[in-house]
Amino acid sequence: MSHIGEFELIGRISASVNVPQGVTGIGDDCAIIPQHSGLDTLVTTDLLIEDRHFLLSDVTPEQLGWKSAAVNISDIAAMGGRPVASFLSIALPKGLDAEWVDRFIAGFNKLSGRFGVPLLGGDTSASPDKLFINVTVLGECPHGQAVLRSGARPGDLICVTGFLGDSAAGLKLVLERAGGNQQPVQGYDEATRSRPWLREREGPSRQAGRDERSEGLAHHTPDPASMLISRHYLPVPRVELGQQLAALPGVHAMMDISDGIASDLRHILNASAASTVANRARSNFTPDTLPGNMRLASLNGTLPCKIPTSELDLAQMSMDSGQVSALGAEIDLKALPLSEELRAVCAERGWDAAELAVSGGEDYELLFTAAPGTPLPEGCTVIGRIVDSGSEPGMRCEEPGTTDGGPRTKNGGPAIRWVGSDKDFKGFTHF
Ligand SMILES: [Mg+2]
Repeated sequence: MSHIGEFELIGRISASVNVPQGVTGIGDDCAIIPQHSGLDTLVTTDLLIEDRHFLLSDVTPEQLGWKSAAVNISDIAAMGGRPVASFLSIALPKGLDAEWVDRFIAGFNKLSGRFGVPLLGGDTSASPDKLFINVTVLGECPHGQAVLRSGARPGDLICVTGFLGDSAAGLKLVLERAGGNQQPVQGYDEATRSRPWLREREGPSRQAGRDERSEGLAHHTPDPASMLISRHYLPVPRVELGQQLAALPGVHAMMDISDGIASDLRHILNASAASTVANRARSNFTPDTLPGNMRLASLNGTLPCKIPTSELDLAQMSMDSGQVSALGAEIDLKALPLSEELRAVCAERGWDAAELAVSGGEDYELLFTAAPGTPLPEGCTVIGRIVDSGSEPGMRCEEPGTTDGGPRTKNGGPAIRWVGSDKDFKGFTHF
C-alpha cells in the first residue's frame, strides 16, 4: 500500500464520488449533512488496528476503549459540533475474552459518558489474527456553523489548544518500554507487561496520585513519564472549546491534531488554498473556458451557478489552467505550548521537545486559525500566522507530492517556515 500513499488513496476514492449539493464529503474532519431541522449532522469514522495504532501488549482494555471513543469525538470537536451518538464495530482475535471486552467497553463508555454520547449500534466479528476497532460518531451543529479546514486566510493567527507533544513523548516512552530500552519507565514493570490490565489489581498504594481522567482505568503515579503515557492513551477531546471557538466569527479554519501540526497544518493550507481558488474560479470561469467534465456540466445547464465537482477538483483544474494560490505558514517554535512534564522528560532523555510538539501526533488538541483581535478562550495559544507564500520572500516551498496529495501550486506546495530552527519538520504519515 505504501506505493500509493494515504492521501493519494483518499484522493482516488473521493474522485469516484458525486457529493450532493450542500453536503460536505471527504476531506474534512467530518462529513456535513444538512437536516430539515436547521441543524447539520456531522459524521466521522476511524479505524484502529493492533500493531499499527496500538500495542495490545501495552495498552489496557480500558485505555483502548477510551481512546477509540476519544479520537472520534475529537473529530466532532474539530468542527465545533456537539457529539450525539456512537457506533462501534470490533473484530476480536483469539485470546481476548469476555472480560477483556467488558473492560474495553467500560473505558469506551467512561469517555463517551463524559460527553453524553450513547453507544447505539455496531457490529462484531472474530478476527483471524489482529484486533480491529472501527468507531463512527455522529454529531450536530447549527446549520452552516461547522468550522471547516478550508477557511484560513493570509494574516490569520495560527492557534492551538492545550499542550503539544505530550502524546508523542508518551508513545516514545511506550515504544522504549516495548523495545526493552535500558531506561525503565517509572510505574511499569516486566511482570505486568504481557498482561497490563493486571496492573489495576495491584495494591492500593499504586492507586495513589491518579488524575481525574485516569480514574478507574489504570494506575498512575504522578511522575512526568506516566503523565505523558496517560496523555497518549487517555486523550480528552476538546468538545467544549471547539464549540466556543466555532461560535466566534473570527475563527476561520479548524481541525484536530492527529498527525502533528507539521502535517495537519498543511491540510488547512491545502484546503484553504483550494477554497480560495475555487471561489475565484466560480466567478471567473465561463462555459467557454471550462476544462473537461466541467464543460459537460455547463452543457447540462448547471454552471456557472452550480459547480458539481469537489472543491479539490475545481482547485486542481484552476491550477492546471494557471490560476495559482499559495498559502503558507510561519510557526514560532518558541511559542509552542509545552507541558512541564514534556520539558522534564525531554531534558532527562535529550529529546527535542519542539520536534515532538510539531511532528509527533495524537495530541487531539485543536488547531485553528483566527483573525487578529479575535478574543480567544482560555487554554488557547497563538503559535504563528498564515502568510501568502507567493509574496513572502524566503518562503521554503516543497517539492510537489512530498507531503500530501492536496492541490499543488506551480512551484511546489504550501510551505511552513519554522522560526527558531533549521529543520524542516514533517508530521506522522499512515502508510
Ligand atoms: Mg481529525
